[in-house]
Amino acid sequence: MNDMPTEEFRKNGHKLVDWISNYLNDIEKYPPLSQVNPGDILKRIQQTPPANGEDIENVLNDVDKIIMDGITHWNHPGFMAYFNSTSSGPGILAEFLSAALNANGMLWKTSPAFTELERSMMNWFRQMVGLSENYWGIIYDTASTSSMHAIASAREQLDLGFREKGMAGRSDVPKLILYCSEHAHNSIDKGAVTLGIGLDGIRKIPANEKFEMVPQKLEEAVKEDIAKGYKPFCVVATVGTTSTTSIDPVEAIADIAEKNNMWLHIDAAYGGVTAMIPDMKWITKGWDRADSIVINPHKWLFTPMDLSIFFTRKPDILKRAFSLSAEYLKTKQDNEVENLMDYGIQLGRRFRSLKLWFIIRYFGVEGLAARIKNHIELAKEFAGWIKADSNFKLMAPVPFSTVCFRFQPENKNEAELNLLNEKLLENINKSGKIFLSHTKLNGKFVIRLTIGSIRQERRHIIDAWEIIKSTARGYR
Ligand SMILES: *Cc1c(COP(=O)(O)O)cnc(C)c1O
Repeated sequence: MNDMPTEEFRKNGHKLVDWISNYLNDIEKYPPLSQVNPGDILKRIQQTPPANGEDIENVLNDVDKIIMDGITHWNHPGFMAYFNSTSSGPGILAEFLSAALNANGMLWKTSPAFTELERSMMNWFRQMVGLSENYWGIIYDTASTSSMHAIASAREQLDLGFREKGMAGRSDVPKLILYCSEHAHNSIDKGAVTLGIGLDGIRKIPANEKFEMVPQKLEEAVKEDIAKGYKPFCVVATVGTTSTTSIDPVEAIADIAEKNNMWLHIDAAYGGVTAMIPDMKWITKGWDRADSIVINPHKWLFTPMDLSIFFTRKPDILKRAFSLSAEYLKTKQDNEVENLMDYGIQLGRRFRSLKLWFIIRYFGVEGLAARIKNHIELAKEFAGWIKADSNFKLMAPVPFSTVCFRFQPENKNEAELNLLNEKLLENINKSGKIFLSHTKLNGKFVIRLTIGSIRQERRHIIDAWEIIKSTARGYR
């Protein structure tokens, strides 16, 4: 009735570590984008569970035979789609250790080191991105969860008794309105849906030609809504939008938020880590006026999925929204410690802060900043190549490391260009060498190339440009 004998674990553990080391060494042998069809992997997996146990070696062998074809390699330097999240050696080691310790940080008592390492890492990170001591941080799984907690705090701040009475069926509650840019991530919409704000309670504020929220439009919308008897309660500014990485004017938005007593949440899931770089400090203008900020180390800080950081100046409101006490969770230390279960919807928590501890100590803050800075420089260089080539067009400014562009040969109309770029992207990705993604900007199909992998070097960007140009040649 026992677990795997430790000697057997040791043997297979070493094998797995060898496998991982080879994988990371040979990553470029794989195509970054999995080339399988829907159902291909499903077919290879036995349909019924085994009644009797088998050697774990068989399972490890099946990882190669069954799983690997169906993996899109986020760690591949040719992965330049979405925002490429890559893992790193120290991050993988920490994840391994976290599973072994299996510490659950629901209460301080259920692993004091868990709560206290998380507190320390939040303090480190706060300093790394230059936030004041007024900010308290917590780790959630994803930015979607972090932003949902921001909206929940914004709602709680209204003090309308939602905890006790809920929202539905009440005539004493005005319609609540949340504001964000038309380019905000749809996790904001999901948070609003989850919390009973509804899609109808979201006002998408138009952006300017640089895809940044227009504060005057926000101000007008707030005024209109107040006149209708609605209650503006939350505004989300995005620093690094998902389509183009544009940056909303946080200070002007903060003015409007303060004037109208709205919670200001900054979604810096992707771009926030760049605040570590002295040249990029400007992106944090106005951050000290935000009620909450989300930054994702699992996006651009070489942290294996998942790890999102939520900072707030008002942890008491977050706690008020979520803490409930149950007899079996009461401890003697409750008055002197922080129990992380009080600050969100989850009870059990994975030991994610280990990843930050390993990664920040291994690379050092300067090492991390230098890598990110290099990605930004490479992206600017790539954008320069696009600008210099008359067959291509840069479609958005490049404040970070993501470049939006399209192939634009002469004598094509907009509909043809959309089709052409869609096909071009498909064929670029079929090359099996690089993986790019797309977005639509003002109805135009745009190809997105993002740099942010810990394994990306200049030669990978040069190769990518060659592949893009040579694939496009077929369409001229
Ligand atoms: C990626 C992204 C998100 C969602 O991140 P998850 O951690 O996957 O939930 C939210 N906002 C922005 C701006 C993003 O780029």
